[in-house]
Amino acid sequence: MKIAVVKETFPGENRVAVVPGAIGPLLKAGHTVCVERAAGLAAGFRDDAYAAAGAELVDRDEAFRSDCLLAVRVGGACGANWATDRQRLSAATTLIGMADPLGSATACAEDARTGATVYALELVPRITRAQSMDVLSSQANIAGYRAVLLGALALRKIVPMMTTAAGTIRPAKVLILGAGVAGLQAIATAKRLGGLVLAYDVRPAVKEQVESLGAKFVELPLETGTSETKGGYAKAMSEEFYQRQRELLGKVIAECDLVVTTALIPGKPAPTLITSEMVAGMQPGSVVVDMAAERGGNCEATTPGDTVDVGGVTILGPTNLPAEVATHTSQLYARNVVTFLQHLLSCGFPDVPADDEICRETLVARGGEVVHPKVRELAGLPPLDPSATDAPAAS
Ligand code: NAD
Repeated sequence: MKIAVVKETFPGENRVAVVPGAIGPLLKAGHTVCVERAAGLAAGFRDDAYAAAGAELVDRDEAFRSDCLLAVRVGGACGANWATDRQRLSAATTLIGMADPLGSATACAEDARTGATVYALELVPRITRAQSMDVLSSQANIAGYRAVLLGALALRKIVPMMTTAAGTIRPAKVLILGAGVAGLQAIATAKRLGGLVLAYDVRPAVKEQVESLGAKFVELPLETGTSETKGGYAKAMSEEFYQRQRELLGKVIAECDLVVTTALIPGKPAPTLITSEMVAGMQPGSVVVDMAAERGGNCEATTPGDTVDVGGVTILGPTNLPAEVATHTSQLYARNVVTFLQHLLSCGFPDVPADDEICRETLVARGGEVVHPKVRELAGLPPLDPSATDAPAAS
């Protein structure tokens, strides 16, 4: 099989789907690997490193003529830049990458019409055997680290406690809102920097994880019994809940130097945890890093992709933190995507076994149709007649 790695086109996307060190297993299995020229440059990997690893360097058209295309962003995750590439797709193409299937279902439907097969890596189920394919975790982990560093640099204070002959400096008080993958790494990073770290999550189950990292879990007197899905994600709560949460959080936030927000609800806009009124209650010089900026933000005052000053409070709205640390995020993504492809191959690729949860849940488009029920629903398409396609139905 001919496998291609393409250069990313989304503005500011520095990552590359496969790093030179990840090519070996594919070649060993007898496949040919083509890499679009300069695909890895922004992530710190030169063409000669790919050539030395055994890849063939090609132009973009040639890459799209391969059997299987590996990318960080495909379809809806590429925005307007994908329109030209969509014309390069055909029924002979299999795309594997992040396609933003729940946020850009219409783009998935347009890709499906080309006949291409599309696997969206955001949909890899969070089960133990799929952990090494979980791109959301591998990228969010590093993003959490990066967010704290950006926040620390934006502060007009240092983070650790310092005892000097000229006096003692108190440690900065850091609050992490949302203690999922990104939040837990943000807690660990803020602890390593010497901050006094507090964390809060709507899922009470994370209290123990927060405390095991040495942070204090902020307990709010809120009814959170129904806040977690079976898959371990947060559920959307009622507006009354969010209102009460904001009232209670306001007091905690007002005393913090740095607040890093990471709260997300899969497939929904990010919940508002910090209102403009709450920002007004913060001390001048405080910093908010809103990691949910790409999905609308957890802070009302966030401008996605920009840094704003609101009454002396600096609010950062980074929208692609993993791309800012592209060497390492690409290295981890490459491991995820190659393991995923190896899994498809072990399942008889291009066939898709109906009984394999990983194949079934990630397959978005095949045979000219959007085959994922949730993505179909979001794209406004009627449920698929199972006899109309050879693809298995995702749950
Ligand atoms: P996410 O990115 O969807 O959300 C980030 C965090 O925001 C979550 O912890 C969520 O509870 C929190 N949140 C949502 N609304 C909130 C609110 N109003 N206030 C405060 N916090 C709020 O989640 P994630 O980081 O991808 O992880 C979700 C869960 O999945 C975690 O329990 C994680 O450990 C688990 N997980 C499991 C596996 C696996 O088993 N293979 C892999 C990765 C993650």
